[in-house]
Amino acid sequence: MKFFCRVLFTLVWANVLLSSCFAQPQRKRFNALVLFENGGHHIAYSTAATKWLNRLAADSNFSIHYIHNTDSINALLLAQYQLFIQLDYPPYGWKPAAAKAFEQYIEQGKGGWIGFHHASLLGEFDGYPIWPWFRDFMGGIRFVNYIPSFVDGVVTIEDSLHPCFKNIPRQFVISKEEWYTYDKSQRQQVHVLAHVDESSYFPASAIKMGDHPVIWSNTTLAARNIYIFMGHSPELFNNIHYTTLFRNSIFWAAGQVVAPKKNSTIK
Ligand SMILES: [Zn+2]
Repeated sequence: MKFFCRVLFTLVWANVLLSSCFAQPQRKRFNALVLFENGGHHIAYSTAATKWLNRLAADSNFSIHYIHNTDSINALLLAQYQLFIQLDYPPYGWKPAAAKAFEQYIEQGKGGWIGFHHASLLGEFDGYPIWPWFRDFMGGIRFVNYIPSFVDGVVTIEDSLHPCFKNIPRQFVISKEEWYTYDKSQRQQVHVLAHVDESSYFPASAIKMGDHPVIWSNTTLAARNIYIFMGHSPELFNNIHYTTLFRNSIFWAAGQVVAPKKNSTIK
């Protein structure tokens, strides 16, 4: 009887161990690191974005980790991620080691990058100098002004074949944006993917820069990268063209196939 009990006990444990092995979670497709602004006037956008990102990550089987300052950024940390999302976090005041590790990550193509909105706030702010490398990354621009009253604008895609624009019409409206202006068009130094038509502003605004790129990619660097200016209002997550662009950019920058929309339940 004792022997029988021992065999039974062993069998039960073997079964528990085996089933726990097979119950291992599915391997994630890729890992994304999100540096986001956890305060100030972009907190509502950050909150809506992280909520949407969490649902997309669960739905599309990738892992996502959030940081709200640059203290922990170094080469070892970045090596764990195939995608870096700079969610409205500005390009100044970074820890020197973080800035260096980020430059190498982009230059050596160790992962992809998506930057939004505040990521192009290039100049001297909050007592910090401009970050020259980041200025060149963004096409050699300097921030000049913004539209504090927020206006609607028509965005026109210039490179319809780019994977980030899959399932997006050539023109779409973005409501209530700040539309930053810069000291020059970045067109000479980066690949412009879309621009906003300043004559479409509603209500009209006198704050203009002429040729006005709003989505671009610096193709001189090894990393897949895309900057998307629109990123102030949480209402953007009710705009199907915006969420499609965000989602396409994630898969493209992470080196994945940009999946058709029907494969997911997240809008
Ligand atoms: Zn803003």
